[in-house]
Amino acid sequence: MSAIKYKGVDFIDFDSLLSDEERLVRDTTRRFIEENLVPIIEECNRAGRFPRELVKPMADLGFFGASLKGYGCAEMGNVEYGLMTQELERGDSGVRSFVSVQSALVMYPIYTFGSDDQKNTWLPAMQRGEKLGCFGLTEPDFGSNPGGMRTRARKSGNEYVLNGEKMWITSGTIADVAVIWAKVEDEDNKVRGFLVETDRPGFKADDVHGKWSLRASVTSGLSMQDVRIPEANLLPGSGGLKSPLMCLNQARYGISWGALGAAMSCYDTALQYSLLRKQFRDQPIASHQLVQEKLVWMISEITKGQLLALQVGRLKDQGKVQHQHISMAKRNNVWMALECARLARDILGGNGIADDYPIMRHLMNLETVKTYEGTHDIHALILGEHITGVSAF
Ligand SMILES: Cc1cc2nc3c(=O)[nH]c(=O)nc-3n(C[C@H](O)[C@H](O)[C@H](O)COP(=O)(O)OP(=O)(O)OC[C@H]3O[C@@H](n4cnc5c(N)ncnc54)[C@H](O)[C@@H]3O)c2cc1C
Repeated sequence: MSAIKYKGVDFIDFDSLLSDEERLVRDTTRRFIEENLVPIIEECNRAGRFPRELVKPMADLGFFGASLKGYGCAEMGNVEYGLMTQELERGDSGVRSFVSVQSALVMYPIYTFGSDDQKNTWLPAMQRGEKLGCFGLTEPDFGSNPGGMRTRARKSGNEYVLNGEKMWITSGTIADVAVIWAKVEDEDNKVRGFLVETDRPGFKADDVHGKWSLRASVTSGLSMQDVRIPEANLLPGSGGLKSPLMCLNQARYGISWGALGAAMSCYDTALQYSLLRKQFRDQPIASHQLVQEKLVWMISEITKGQLLALQVGRLKDQGKVQHQHISMAKRNNVWMALECARLARDILGGNGIADDYPIMRHLMNLETVKTYEGTHDIHALILGEHITGVSAF
């Protein structure tokens, strides 16, 4: 457990921009993380263990599908949802990833593209944490370019037969259901989404071992060999690559807030440490100009990132958000958080690499967060295309 207790970060009275309900969600999540995740996360990270015991308590607090309406979901506004992911990731990016996948990548597509039967079967159980999901888009040979996917679905009577491989799938081996994106042979290879129960014959999930990032999250490869599912398992409203990209937009929005949480954890730890640690003339290292400059960079960038995330959230609540807004927030805030983690690591000196403090874990986690849900550079291309009108993919 970290030697330093989190004090929270707010430089410009950001709290005054939030409603009472938004602050309540933030504070409730913060308390939950402080009491339940912080005491165990370093051990989980060492052991490469997902803290599954937290699934039920997180469900009880309404963390799953939190911004969806009905089906027992918490019906949070988008800023409340963002503040929740901020606090989750202040705890750990892997645990936030679990919640993002369950909510934005599994419950959201069922909610948005699913039939009434599918919604009634899955959403209440997933909200309660009784059923877990995963999202299979990436393949061994197609990450940034998912349109090249090889996974195929073929109609056979009143069933679909699925074949293919998915890679880097969060929660793959603990999921009860996988949202699988496949090209449908009988529909001119159009990409569509399918609900695949993970106990179906021919479906196999294996964990990725040797990860030095997101160690408290399950990451898996999926293999489907002639997996037969009823035609009712097709997500009827899905059609084209736009459908999984809509899901990714939901998740990326949460990440843009989540990264702030990781950055805040690093900044707060580095600030407190710099006041305690003394070097030269018995002075705290916080008295040295170079250390102050690092801390000032961190708090300035965190503050700008908060305002960006908040505005994107407000636009989302008004139904005005565009995918490029979310790309900018994800790209900027994750990069900023990674830089904060690196600066904090530096300020902690040797202690910066030890898990008595959360810094190195955040740093390693953020390397994944920079890559998944559209890499930093892919978001640059999305933004570049938007502002110039010219695609550089
Ligand atoms: C821990 C973890 C969990 C994940 N969870 C999930 C999940 O639950 N579900 C899921 O479907 N996927 C998941 N992913 C996969 C993730 O989304 C992909 O890793 C990501 O999309 C990048 O794909 P890639 O790894 O194949 O890299 P690549 O696409 O091979 O990219 C490699 C490098 O090339 C660059 N590059 C690629 N194309 C271009 C271009 N046109 N111009 C310039 N640069 C380019 C990229 O920016 C990157 O730097 C996860 C990944 C990780 C690491």
